[in-house]
Amino acid sequence: MPPHPAIEQIKQILGSKGWADEDGMLAPHLVDSRGSYQGRCLGLALPATTEEVSRIVTLCAHHRIPIVPQGGNTGRVGGATPDETGTALLINLSRMNNILEIDPEGHAITVEAGCILQNIQQAAADADRFFPLSLGAEGSCQIGGNLASNAGGINVLRYGNTRDLVLGLEAVMPDGRVMNALTALRKDNTGYDLKHLLIGSEGTLGIITKAVLRLFPRPTSQATAFCALDSLDSAVDLLGRARADSGDAVSSFELIPARAVEFASRHVPNTRPPLDDIPDWCVLLEFSGSGAAPSTNKDLESFLEGAFEAGLITDAMIAQNEGQRSDLWRLREAIVAAQKPEGASIKHDISVPVQAVPAFIRQANEAVTEACPGIRPYPFGHVGDGNIHYNLSQPEGMAPAAFKAREEDLHRIVYDITQSLGGSISAEHGIGRKKRDDLARYGDPVSLDLMRAIKKALDPDNIMNPGILLPTETNDNDKKPIRENRP
Ligand SMILES: Cc1cc2nc3c(=O)[nH]c(=O)nc-3n(C[C@H](O)[C@H](O)[C@H](O)COP(=O)(O)OP(=O)(O)OC[C@H]3O[C@@H](n4cnc5c(N)ncnc54)[C@H](O)[C@@H]3O)c2cc1C
Repeated sequence: MPPHPAIEQIKQILGSKGWADEDGMLAPHLVDSRGSYQGRCLGLALPATTEEVSRIVTLCAHHRIPIVPQGGNTGRVGGATPDETGTALLINLSRMNNILEIDPEGHAITVEAGCILQNIQQAAADADRFFPLSLGAEGSCQIGGNLASNAGGINVLRYGNTRDLVLGLEAVMPDGRVMNALTALRKDNTGYDLKHLLIGSEGTLGIITKAVLRLFPRPTSQATAFCALDSLDSAVDLLGRARADSGDAVSSFELIPARAVEFASRHVPNTRPPLDDIPDWCVLLEFSGSGAAPSTNKDLESFLEGAFEAGLITDAMIAQNEGQRSDLWRLREAIVAAQKPEGASIKHDISVPVQAVPAFIRQANEAVTEACPGIRPYPFGHVGDGNIHYNLSQPEGMAPAAFKAREEDLHRIVYDITQSLGGSISAEHGIGRKKRDDLARYGDPVSLDLMRAIKKALDPDNIMNPGILLPTETNDNDKKPIRENRP
């Protein structure tokens, strides 16, 4: 196929550092982080400034060239991978990685969208401030990708999702114009808050190029414990009690099943069970505070004594130093990798109201076991936010392909239960390409119509990340939402 006539102009705008089209350079950008999607593209644009992004997008709009925005390419739903046609331009923001301004007094930091999340955390710490967004991919994901997917992570309970951490944004819109909402104002009631349209839009409404983010006082004390729960139901009671007793100093509350401790100890170096006896369900609990907030080991110890007397926990281990705290968090982070050597897996990222988490896990475990005897449920995650990564490992001895062939059935079972409990089929990973049809099935039809109307208004030629997030109209007309069928 001859190169698209616009490519020469794009190359001229970007210069030699800003363009790649050799197979070796392109390869890692053409496959998603789970290895589920493999695409092709016209080339990889690596702009260095907002102006360059704007000029390329203007050209693409003129020629109706589809654009796929890409950050660190760590997303879990295939949203940053171009399709197989090879007609799209990939725009990766990794060269736009400057921290532009830090204002400790104003508790704000201004960054380019290609900044790696960990570098923003470090810049905040260097200024004696705290940027709370934290997740397993923080060493390689970019803030633009975090914003576009409204990422969650381990500190949502205390500080909110990425959406809650943003003061202002700059973005290049699908016609190439630059929306300048790059403000550090805490109050600005001047009409629609357009930054929130871009946040969570998964690259379908524009390319985020800069952001002003909220900073917080640096926690001066932290206390971390691994707790053995008396039962799954105790998790919810323990959380409520921990929040009330600590003056809401709970920053993380992560559910860890015995199976995850077992798999991690077996497969991931330097991880071991923190307690001699691991019951079916455990929680990694962290208090953190500044100033007089009660978050020392002594406060945690007295809280845990009360929880023990109330019959919520049967044992606990409090980290006595930073090394022990890192060991506990290493175990938590190892859960995902530890599942892989156990064979094929099927994954869900769901949320339900916090108090419904035990019912969800019980109902789902029962239903998937009935559908696929021997299946090994592997639910873990941010129970404090009602967000469970409801992963499933194949039965021992089953052929991986035979298990994967059950994927759609098992998704239906899990998502039907999620919906019956008032939950969401995507708590923090987004929709991307992976869950587009599921959104058609489970999403509210009016909300979907409104989303399409917004997309049409801002991107009438559908050049921004086409095929991502929004189901095609026939999809959801064909599949009548289950919600409407319920009595
Ligand atoms: C080990 C691991 C742990 C993870 N843990 C969590 C977790 O705890 N919580 C959680 O929420 N997620 C988690 N994730 C997934 C998470 O969404 C991503 O890691 C991160 O938020 C995506 O950032 P990225 O820069 O890699 O974006 P990408 O993967 O490159 O892109 C994600 C989406 O954003 C769009 N996009 C990227 N940059 C821009 C931009 N500048 N403007 C407009 N659109 C853009 C893309 O088109 C795509 O749709 C994890 C992933 C991994 C690999």
